[in-house]
Formats: sequence, C-alpha cells, structure tokens
Amino acid sequence: MTKGKISAKLLAATILMVAYQGLAVAQMPQQQPDAKAFKLGNLDIVALHDAQFVLPNDGKVFGLDHRPAEVADLLKAAGAPTDTITLSVDALLVKSDRHLVLIDTGVGGALQGSLAKAGYRADAVDEILITHSHPDHVGGLVLDGKLAFPNATIRMSEAEWSFAKANEKLTPIVKVIEDRVKTFKPGGEVAPGITSVALSGHTPGHVGYQIVSGKERLFDIGDTVHSSIISLAEPDWGVSFDADKPEAEQNRVKTLSTLAKNKERIFAPHFPFPGVGYISAEGDHFSWTANDKAE
Ligand SMILES: [Zn+2]
Repeated sequence: MTKGKISAKLLAATILMVAYQGLAVAQMPQQQPDAKAFKLGNLDIVALHDAQFVLPNDGKVFGLDHRPAEVADLLKAAGAPTDTITLSVDALLVKSDRHLVLIDTGVGGALQGSLAKAGYRADAVDEILITHSHPDHVGGLVLDGKLAFPNATIRMSEAEWSFAKANEKLTPIVKVIEDRVKTFKPGGEVAPGITSVALSGHTPGHVGYQIVSGKERLFDIGDTVHSSIISLAEPDWGVSFDADKPEAEQNRVKTLSTLAKNKERIFAPHFPFPGVGYISAEGDHFSWTANDKAE
C-alpha cells in the first residue's frame, strides 16, 4: 500500500472520529509503526501502535466544567505542552499456543505495519476482542471495504454490538463485520485465559479484558482512562468521550483505586506507547509508572 493511500484512509478515519465524538479538531501527526513485545507467563504479548491524536486544550474534551487554564496547570505540572493533549492509540496482541488474539484494532492507522513489524500476519489473527465500538477501536477492522483480519471471529459485549448497530456512522463497518461478530455477557471467559470485565460509563457495553497466565496478569482497561496526565490527576473531571459522564467518572475513580490497591499491571490503549504499567494512589489522585519489561 502506498503512503498516499494510507494518508487518505487516515484522513477519512480522522473525520469519522471528529464527527462521531464531536471534536472540533483532531490531528494525527505521527503514524509510525511500532511494536513492543514482552512475556506474560506462557503468553507472548505485543503492544501495537496505531496512531497519535493531538487534541486542542479548549475545554471541549477534557475538564468539562473546568477551565482550559486548570487543565493547562495539570499538563504543565507533568512537563507536557499546555495547549494540546496528546493521546496514543494502541492495541494489544496476545499469542498462546492455540490462538492469536487481537484486543481492539485502532482507527486504521499504522496497526497493520506494527503487526508486520512484530512478525505476525493479519490472516493469522483468529480472535478479535473489542472493548467498545468507538472508531479508534473498531476502525481497523475494515481495510479497503473488506475484513482486515479475514480469519478472525470478532467478539464484543451484547450491549456494545446493539450500540454499534444503532450508530449510523458505523454502518460501513457494521455491514462488513456483522457475519463475524459473536457477542457475550461481560464477566466470563472470552478466550483461553482472557476474561471480560464490565467497566461502565464510557459506552453502553464497554468492557476491559483481564489476561492471566500462571501467576501473571495484565488488565486491558480500555477507555476507562484516556490521558495519562488528566485522567489520573483529576479522574472525576468530565470527559466528552464518555457517554454517561457521572457513571464513567465514578467508575474511573473506583477502578483506579482498585488497580492501585492491588498493584495490578495494566494496558491503557491511549496512554503513551506501549501503555503498559502500574497505577499508584497519591491522596485523591493517581500516578502512572510505565513498566513494559518482561518479569
Ligand atoms: Zn478510545
């Protein structure tokens, strides 16, 4: 595929994202493939980079009911630029002896290149687990109007699939994938060693995925959090991406507290790539420690 073609697709995907989530501007300057592999018990895990969103700090996405200056203070304290908020868009690959499982598929950016960089073919993926149906998680399911992972069963929660089918902007994706979709009720095993966990508020059927091998665990928490700076410093501030904002805020605080208490290793798809690490509690806010080394 040519570079020009990728750019056109990304532009379309960006417009979809902008239209869907009501953002004024979303820029995606870097779409370099990147892959970070590590072991989790007997499993091979790879964090796959897809895209980078750069959003203006205009009070329309983060810190709803707060001033952009308050958000700027948080960004400044973290040593980040204060006029923009950068979010990575990443996915997770889980390889066992029997399956090649992809959790989320990005917006249609560099994911395929990242997969190739990690040494895997798209047609070897046999299971896809979706956290929720926003375009930056399901956009990579379709490539040139066809299934991007032709041999994969696509799993998401019942509530999320209903939500996706009711969303007109997703119709082009829904039409291509509908014969491959299998739904589940959250709380059970969806692939060997992988359990879905309901994480309420972001979308009607949003889930995370708990991956366990031997004594090791990794929890893909989906879009419970977005910014490694703002979502942790002020987890109860409103985020425009959340469908049910009070529910999402409550769930965010509760989930972060539990993750910190249990010292759980997590994958957060929008934290700085590769998005693997630990949450710590510091009073009423939280902090992030990246940790993507095999242990
Ligand atoms: Zn997202």
